[in-house]
Amino acid sequence: MQPYAACYAGHQFGHWAGQLGDGRAITLGEWDSGNEQTWELQLKGAGRTPYSRRADGRAVLRSSVREYLMSEAMHYLGVPTTRALSLVATGDQVMRDMFYNGNPEFEPGAIVMRVAPSFLRFGNFELLAARQENENLKNLTNWTIQQYFLHLQGEDKILLWFKEIVARTASLMVEWQRVGFVHGVMNTDNMSILGLTIDYGPYSFLDDYDPDFTPNTTDLPGRRYAFGQQPSIAYWNLGCLASAIAPLLSGTEEIVAALETFEDIYSTKYQSMLGNKLGLDKVKPEDIDLLVALEDMLTRIKPDMTIFYQLLIALPIHPEPEEAVLNHFKDSFYRAPEGKEQELFLNFIKTYQERIQKNSIGPEERITRMQKANPRFILRNYLLHQAIEELERGESTLFGKLQEAIKEPYSGKWDAFMVKRPNWASQKAGCSM
Ligand code: AMP
Ligand code: MG
Ligand code: MG
Repeated sequence: MQPYAACYAGHQFGHWAGQLGDGRAITLGEWDSGNEQTWELQLKGAGRTPYSRRADGRAVLRSSVREYLMSEAMHYLGVPTTRALSLVATGDQVMRDMFYNGNPEFEPGAIVMRVAPSFLRFGNFELLAARQENENLKNLTNWTIQQYFLHLQGEDKILLWFKEIVARTASLMVEWQRVGFVHGVMNTDNMSILGLTIDYGPYSFLDDYDPDFTPNTTDLPGRRYAFGQQPSIAYWNLGCLASAIAPLLSGTEEIVAALETFEDIYSTKYQSMLGNKLGLDKVKPEDIDLLVALEDMLTRIKPDMTIFYQLLIALPIHPEPEEAVLNHFKDSFYRAPEGKEQELFLNFIKTYQERIQKNSIGPEERITRMQKANPRFILRNYLLHQAIEELERGESTLFGKLQEAIKEPYSGKWDAFMVKRPNWASQKAGCSM
C-alpha cells in the first residue's frame, strides 16, 4: 500500500476558498477488479492528514452512518454515486465542536470505507490552475482521460472530455431531481469528475415538495444549494472547471460552447424524466404546459413528493368526483389543499387524466414506466435520525431494516416506511459533519 490524501481546492458557497484537500479521507490504494474497472479504496474518518488543518481527521458514527447508508441507497436507486464497502465503530469518543454551556460534546467515532473508480473532483483541476502549474494540470488531465475516459482519443480529446463531464453532470442533476435528493454542499470540491454523487454531508431527501428546501443550516438564508437550485449550481460549477482547464486549450470559444450545451442536455433529459414519472408515452411539445403545471402545483400544494407520485400511479384514469380524488391523495398532504389551491390541484389531476387517455402506450406499460421512475422507499432524514439514535444506544434493529430496504426502493416490500414525515421531525433539522 501507498496510502495518500489528495490535495485539491474549491469554490465554496460561490467564493474561491483556495487549497483544501482530504482532511479526513485516506486512500489506501486501488483494486483492479479485472473487468477494466479499478476501485479506489478510501477510509473516511481514520485520522489526520496533511490537509486536516486544525481539525481532527475523524468522523462520528452519525455522519458515517449517513454516508454509508445513503451512498448505498443512491446506488440502488440507480443514481451514479460513490459507494460504501464497510462501516466500523472505532470505540473512540470523538470531540465535536458543538459547545453547549462551554462543554464540548463527545460522540462515538466511526470509519467508512468508501469506494469509487475515482474520487477526483473539479477542485483537483482548479488547484493546479490556480497555482499556474500548467504542466501538472496537463499531466493530470491526460492521466484522467487515459484512466477513466479511454474512449476519448485524438487531438481534441480534452474538449471532448469536458463535454462528457458536462453531459454526465447534467444527467446526475436530472437523477437528483427525479428522486428528490438535495445534496446540500455543492461546492466545486464536492463535484466528481466522473459525474458521481460524492461527499454525503447534510443531504436530505425532500419530504414535502419544496424547491427552496436546503438541509444545510449554514446555507441560510441564501439557500444557494436548495433543491431547485441544484441544476444551475452544477452549471456554475462546470464553469469553474472550464476556467481551470481553459489554459490547456487553444481558444476559449469552444469550451464556452461546450459548457453551454448543459442547458439543452439538462432540459431535454429533465422533461423526459418528468414524462416517465407521469407515465407519458413521450413528451410532446404540447405536453410542456402539463409539466410546468405539475411543478407549479407541487410547489404550491407541497405534498409529500414520494407519496404523491405513488398515489398518481394508483389513480384511476377516468375522472371521479372531486371528493374521491382528494381522498385518494390525502396521505400525501401535509396540509389539505383548500380554496384556490384545491382548485389548482383538481385541475391538474383532471388535465393529467385527459392526457393519459391519449397515451399511445397501454396502462400496463404506463404503470411499469412510472414504477421505474418513482421510488417507493426513500431513506428519509427522520428514519436515519432514529436509526442513529438506536445505534448510539447499542441497538441495530432499525439500521438493519434500512440496510435491507435501501436495496429495493422500487418494491412494495417496505411500504411500512411509506408514510409522511411525522410531525415531531421537522424538515428544517439538518445534519452536518
Ligand atoms: P465538506 O464540506 O464535507 O466538503 O468538507 C470541507 C473540508 O473540510 C474538506 O476538505 C474536508 O476534508 C474537511 N474536513 C471536514 N471534517 C474534517 C475533520 N473532522 N477533520 C479534518 N478535516 C475535515
Ligand atoms: Mg468535501
Ligand atoms: Mg464532507
